[in-house]
Amino acid sequence: MTAGPVLDRSEIVVVGAGVLGLAVAWALGQALGPAARSVLVVDRHPPATQATARAAALLTRARGDAATAALVRDTYAAITSLEEELDEDLGLRRVGTLHVAASPARVEALRTLVTDSTDPVDWLDGDGAARLAPCLSAEAVERAAFMPLDGFIDPVRLADAYRRSARRAGVRIMTGPSVQAIRVEGGRVAGIDTDHGVISAPMVVNAAGAWAAGLAWTAGVGLPQAPVRSQYWITGQHPDLFPRNLPVLVMPDAGAYARPELGALLFGLRGRRSLAFDPARLPDDTAGLDLADADGGWQTLEEGWQALARLCPPLLQAGIAHYVSGLSTYTADGRFVLGPVLEMPGLFMATGCCGAGIAASGGIGRAVAASVLATPGSVDLSPFAPGRLGGVDPCSPALHDACAAARSGKITG
Ligand SMILES: Cc1cc2nc3c(=O)[nH]c(=O)nc-3n(C[C@H](O)[C@H](O)[C@H](O)COP(=O)(O)OP(=O)(O)OC[C@H]3O[C@@H](n4cnc5c(N)ncnc54)[C@H](O)[C@@H]3O)c2cc1C
Repeated sequence: MTAGPVLDRSEIVVVGAGVLGLAVAWALGQALGPAARSVLVVDRHPPATQATARAAALLTRARGDAATAALVRDTYAAITSLEEELDEDLGLRRVGTLHVAASPARVEALRTLVTDSTDPVDWLDGDGAARLAPCLSAEAVERAAFMPLDGFIDPVRLADAYRRSARRAGVRIMTGPSVQAIRVEGGRVAGIDTDHGVISAPMVVNAAGAWAAGLAWTAGVGLPQAPVRSQYWITGQHPDLFPRNLPVLVMPDAGAYARPELGALLFGLRGRRSLAFDPARLPDDTAGLDLADADGGWQTLEEGWQALARLCPPLLQAGIAHYVSGLSTYTADGRFVLGPVLEMPGLFMATGCCGAGIAASGGIGRAVAASVLATPGSVDLSPFAPGRLGGVDPCSPALHDACAAARSGKITG
């Protein structure tokens, strides 16, 4: 293990100041009171400038499993609590989500998806769906399920609210140092090595997003996740076609989702084949990674365009004004990677976001903080256990393919 100057000593170090690291810091700050000064968040970049800054930030509640749905519900509660504490409106746009099924088989899948939900659901026929979302073709919609309590939010604003609350509680945030490795001494975590020196700590939370698997590997821990490209497009301005109160649209028959964006439509396509990356070979900043042209974001658009335009014909006249891509991290089973690493005492995970890290951030923050502090949490993290898929080589092409397939097959928001 390389030695270096001692940069800091803390009780708990959180690596990553994206929405997940900041949500964990916020929850630790809430739980620890004056002892929150023993928590240090480290990031080589300014907070919330990587995946978090690029998210479409749908906060969809229908998730297909109770544990994930509970984490999302906790995010809505976190937003309320942050708004009260900071005495400001965080701009949550509660427009509801319209889950659209374009075939009888998809109606059955949709029933399964929303049946487990404890949140209100209104079932609509094609005409009812088109009344709510005039850009939809009533003829193309078989049935739709509207969940009125859903919404979306500016992801950077939410992350910044977690950050400010954590700071008020006393949590320290250090930007600049790049973490090179997790320090292991006597078979347990002893801190981190950074390019600025050593930070010693008996507990480390790995919330390093697309880089989390590469970082865990420095301690010999194989995480079952891979960085996978996510992408969306924004049309030109057409407030008549895409009013600001348009609901979020989830359209699995087209592998697509959409939401209003200031008089335009933001729409994402999952594509038949998602693009996965080797976590050990990522540049430090995804702005330096060619995400658009490696296999062509435009290829996904061309492949998915027609199925989407059948459901949403105004897209044919709206034109494309922007393209946004970034890295999420996916697991083969579509579940987050959260909680303690059993074979490495002192190491905890808050990663494997599966394109839902904004939606679940509040719940993940609270649940991971509870596992670090060994206090009872409101959500059982065992479905998300880092070791649930056995021994994993995070650099294996087979793992990357399985994680990319999980994104392509996703049917939720
Ligand atoms: C195009 C797109 C659309 C999306 N849409 C949605 C959506 O609609 N809803 C939703 O819930 N989610 C969505 N997501 C996913 C969401 O963005 C992620 O789940 C979330 O941002 C993950 O947060 P994070 O904190 O794990 O990662 P990041 O925000 O990437 O933060 C990780 C941080 O760790 C730091 N870091 C990493 N390694 C090191 C190191 N070695 N040393 C120092 N610092 C390090 C990085 O600098 C970074 O700041 C989308 C993502 C993309 C790309």
